[in-house]
Amino acid sequence: MIEMMKRAEKVLAATYKRFPVVVTEGKGAELWDGSGKKYLDFVSGIAVCNIGHAHPRIAEVLAKQANTLLHVSNLYYTVPQIELAEWLVDRSFADRVFFCNSGAEANEAAIKLARRYYKKKATPSRYRIVSMKKSFHGRTMATLSATGQKKIREGYDPVLQGFDYAEFNDIKSLEDTICPETCAVMLEPIQGEGGIICPDKDYLKAVSEICRKRDLLLIFDEVQTGLGRTGALFAYEHFDVTPDIMTLAKALGAGLPIGAMLATEKIASAFDAGSHATTFGGGPAITAAALENLKIIEETGLSENSRILGEYFKARLLELKDRYGRYIVDVRGVGLLTGMKLKISGDPIVRAAMEKGFLINCIQEAILRFAPPLIIGEKEIDALLACLDAVFSSISTEDVS
Ligand SMILES: *Cc1c(COP(=O)(O)O)cnc(C)c1O
Repeated sequence: MIEMMKRAEKVLAATYKRFPVVVTEGKGAELWDGSGKKYLDFVSGIAVCNIGHAHPRIAEVLAKQANTLLHVSNLYYTVPQIELAEWLVDRSFADRVFFCNSGAEANEAAIKLARRYYKKKATPSRYRIVSMKKSFHGRTMATLSATGQKKIREGYDPVLQGFDYAEFNDIKSLEDTICPETCAVMLEPIQGEGGIICPDKDYLKAVSEICRKRDLLLIFDEVQTGLGRTGALFAYEHFDVTPDIMTLAKALGAGLPIGAMLATEKIASAFDAGSHATTFGGGPAITAAALENLKIIEETGLSENSRILGEYFKARLLELKDRYGRYIVDVRGVGLLTGMKLKISGDPIVRAAMEKGFLINCIQEAILRFAPPLIIGEKEIDALLACLDAVFSSISTEDVS
């Protein structure tokens, strides 16, 4: 496997600092590397594998679809795409769905739709979008422009014009950032990559109220929070608000690449034939697999499991914080999207946990993110906690300076 990593470093673009592990197999919440070492997965491909790895129902549906029809242009109708759109429309505020291949593409579609809606249907002078500092919306030129983190935009100037950044959880900052050309406010209901930052009580309601008063579209990026992760199918359900546009991706395809942009009829009507398109988006294989994935999430009550286990997990992490308050500042999250802010660098903790057979990850240098498959149980959480306990207790005081 060392040989394999050497080959990788020669030929792959160096855009990732990878851990020295070649993952070869997965099942449920477990992964194995090439040497046969087992890991409990608290990353889930970053909130992707909500139903766990290698689910037999996904394998079966994919094999069947591969033997029937893998691809046909969006110039034609296909049954799985229609059924997937119906499933999403039936369970959300939205009336129409545009399928694409990733979270960034879903956000591109949302940005394009917002601009086009104002050009075609409302106030043509409006095109600017307010997004949030510490947000993350993707890596394409438009979505990195929407992303409120300098380090993501670095080296790519000039980025797309027309984005203004407000402080998350700060209504005054939002009001000060909105200008006469603003057409939409775009935000993650819970900021993911920014550090699992939860909205204050009534914040999203206040944002929604401002949007309504000023005739601005409200766009929720639920790429990370959607599809059961937070203990509800969509995170917006927790906050008694509905957006005009919502984007989904990560967990939608059970590990296969798919994104979706959902909108109300009124807003979606600004897209007409030829105004947006994709070759692969919503193809029959991926939409068949995604639909099966959503049925599994619903039939096996994974949102509910995420809610209950999320509470348990957070309580256990708070115990850990009580014991290691000298290293741990904060524990937060909703459902099984959980963050733990440290006073020390997170990387050594991630590596030590990995050594012991647990995959976790670190964002913003000092925030550990835990996003296990939603099938996880108390036993697995207890095992991770025992591991973290051992790791924190072995930190020497020199590490903390
Ligand atoms: C991961 C993520 C994206 C980008 O999705 P990709 O599929 O990597 O393009 C966008 N928004 C949020 C909130 C995300 O977490």
